[in-house]
Amino acid sequence: MADKIAKAHEASAAAALHPGGGDTIFGKIIRKEIPAKILYEDEQCVAFHDAAPQAPTHFLVVPRKPLARLSEAQDESDAALLGHMMLVAKRCAEKTGLVKKGYRLVVNDGPHGGQSVYHLHIHVLGGRQLAWPPG
Ligand code: AMP
Repeated sequence: MADKIAKAHEASAAAALHPGGGDTIFGKIIRKEIPAKILYEDEQCVAFHDAAPQAPTHFLVVPRKPLARLSEAQDESDAALLGHMMLVAKRCAEKTGLVKKGYRLVVNDGPHGGQSVYHLHIHVLGGRQLAWPPG
């Protein structure tokens, strides 16, 4: 956990050098430059399994638009995209068999949120009982 937080703080410092969003590992996955276990994709977003799953099912929904973090989203231009991502999360949760018992969506924003990749993403976690608060 301490390692995750340290990584998040390092990533935040690096992201501050590229306001508005630089390229990240997720950009490389979206462009198919590096492999990922892709669950779903369309013209607006890509969903793929997390490389370090925190639950039996853990995938990410990532917009093709390189928005660095949720707090940079704009009311006017990003509302439809954010709604679409939630619906894609729901659809992929159905596809991965999470609906009967439920699941959790998480968006980490900035260093206090524990964000380590500065390309907006929704985590979808399920397949076990999740605790609350998350820590
Ligand atoms: P966050 O800490 O909220 O920014 O989440 C970033 C997530 O991306 C973490 O859960 C990582 O395990 C995941 N991740 C990092 N690199 C990859 C990758 N190459 N493929 C899939 N997931 C990744």
